[in-house]
Amino acid sequence: MKTEKPILQDLHGRDHAYLRISLIERCNLRCTYCMPEEGVKLSPKNHLMTYKEIYTIAKTFVDNGVTKIRLTGGEPLIRKDIPTILEKLSTLPVELSITSNAVIIDKFIDVLKANHVNKINVSLDSLDAAKFKHITRRHEFKKVYNNILLLVKEGFTVKVNAVLMKGFNDNEIIDFINFTKDLPISVRFIEFMPFDGNKWDMSKMVSYAEVMEYVNASFLKENIERLQDAPNDTSKNYKIEGYKGSFAIISSVTNPFCDSCNRLRLTANGQLKNCLFSSTESDLLTTLRKGKSIEPVIQKAVQAKFKVRGGMDTLKKLQEPKLHNNNRSMITIGG
Ligand code: SF4
Repeated sequence: MKTEKPILQDLHGRDHAYLRISLIERCNLRCTYCMPEEGVKLSPKNHLMTYKEIYTIAKTFVDNGVTKIRLTGGEPLIRKDIPTILEKLSTLPVELSITSNAVIIDKFIDVLKANHVNKINVSLDSLDAAKFKHITRRHEFKKVYNNILLLVKEGFTVKVNAVLMKGFNDNEIIDFINFTKDLPISVRFIEFMPFDGNKWDMSKMVSYAEVMEYVNASFLKENIERLQDAPNDTSKNYKIEGYKGSFAIISSVTNPFCDSCNRLRLTANGQLKNCLFSSTESDLLTTLRKGKSIEPVIQKAVQAKFKVRGGMDTLKKLQEPKLHNNNRSMITIGG
């Protein structure tokens, strides 16, 4: 069924060409800002999308204008049929990429290359093994660090995502930037955001402005280059003179970038989230399993999208626990 108005265009005129698919609710790490202390209530197995359903839903989005698909989790690489999922999705005319904690990514170099996945985002919140253990509750720092070096050596485009938390890793901002001196990677500092169970409050967040204070205190002004951000970019990009890599800040809290948002999210149990912060979801999987078209459900969800942060358009609203906790935990959204 073809409708006049593109089903992926919202009422604010934004076209959604980027679909993030969470493949699994499980992870081999336990990051404190992502996985609630008490864990998460996992969906029953038969409520999770099969690889065929992931392909069918993804193809519907691609047929309607999606040009970029990022696979997330939990940790997508621990899903047993990930090679089949990559093989199926790589037949679609999209840029396929993945976000991983890189603990086991060394085992997937060939399958990622075979399926044209060359953009890898790696989550790493500290360059200190003890702090890594503290935040992830696992002893995997060395593997992750070495796998980042391996990915670069193997020619992947690597971005390192670090969620900054005051008093925990904000004193590593310059170390992370210096990590880009000899490595052609992009380190992205993410403002800590509120999700169910992550005990967020504004005082724990390190803002875009605070990151730049560290940068301006450590590098000469003339050596700090502000790079051109790509359209729909979530990050503000910079480069230090003579460094091979770059760094960036993702400021969803203090400087949201919703005007150019082109992202939709599909959860592992087949729910469409029209925004990272949306408190409502649309059930594509049940509709699909009933043999009905999912396009009207997608269109309705896209047209219901708020202009800013799922309706939390002010910092005051974002700080409202009953508003920001009315969402999933990060592990079942996939960032
Ligand atoms: S907060 Fe929601 S609307 Fe804003 S950029 Fe993120 S996903 Fe898009």
